[in-house]
Amino acid sequence: MLKKNKVDYIKGWGKFSGPNSIEVDLTEGGTESINVKNAIIATGSDAAHLPAGMLDIDEEYVITSTGALALKEVPKSMIVVGGGVIGLEMGSVYNRLGTDVTVVQHTDVVCPFLDREIANNFQKILKKQGLKILTNTKLTSGTNNKENGVEVVLSGPKGDQTLTADKVLLSIGRRPFTDGLDLEKAGLQTNNWGQIDVNHFN
Ligand SMILES: Cc1cc2nc3c(=O)[nH]c(=O)nc-3n(C[C@H](O)[C@H](O)[C@H](O)COP(=O)(O)OP(=O)(O)OC[C@H]3O[C@@H](n4cnc5c(N)ncnc54)[C@H](O)[C@@H]3O)c2cc1C
Repeated sequence: MLKKNKVDYIKGWGKFSGPNSIEVDLTEGGTESINVKNAIIATGSDAAHLPAGMLDIDEEYVITSTGALALKEVPKSMIVVGGGVIGLEMGSVYNRLGTDVTVVQHTDVVCPFLDREIANNFQKILKKQGLKILTNTKLTSGTNNKENGVEVVLSGPKGDQTLTADKVLLSIGRRPFTDGLDLEKAGLQTNNWGQIDVNHFN
């Protein structure tokens, strides 16, 4: 389809070398420069991380959805930090595969962005399926003991508690993926959320 529609597909890593020029580090080696009138940045997103040192992602024991989709074995237990769409999708899949899943969500119901009645019913259905859901609870610290389990300290309505699981899935949101684009060379900058501010013109 790309060929038919006369779209060139250059395989490589693109970055700005100026406002109207892109340099591509080609997958097969070498570089290629492209001059452009307009550029669309559509580099997607990446899993949000916790503050550095709190519980670092290694995609083996402390995982994101990327690691969750690549596990070689079904873990015995998993703590899902973040009861949003991705955490609950992965949590419910592993629950059905036999993993003991505990979801930690800082608000009083999972998926707080949904219509309240739908969110409440969704939570009931998930609990009926066997997921343990700790609401009004947040992660305060964690220790990755690798094959000996990942330990997390949670703060909730009944005070602090420590839980250990084979895997901890961090699903606390997504951030814009703009790494390595050399945006400053195009005269662009990111805001505090890592997003490129746009308006009707640029
Ligand atoms: C676990 C998970 C489950 C999801 N489930 C659903 C679902 O069921 N339904 C749904 O609608 N959405 C779902 N989504 C969301 C959906 O994947 C995204 O909304 C969608 O992929 C966004 O499209 P995009 O083109 O903006 O970015 P992407 O699909 O992420 O594409 C960006 C591409 O740019 C490439 N790239 C990045 N930087 C560079 C660079 N410098 N040079 C060259 N290439 C680069 C990346 O390799 C990637 O191929 C899910 C997301 C996740 C993480």
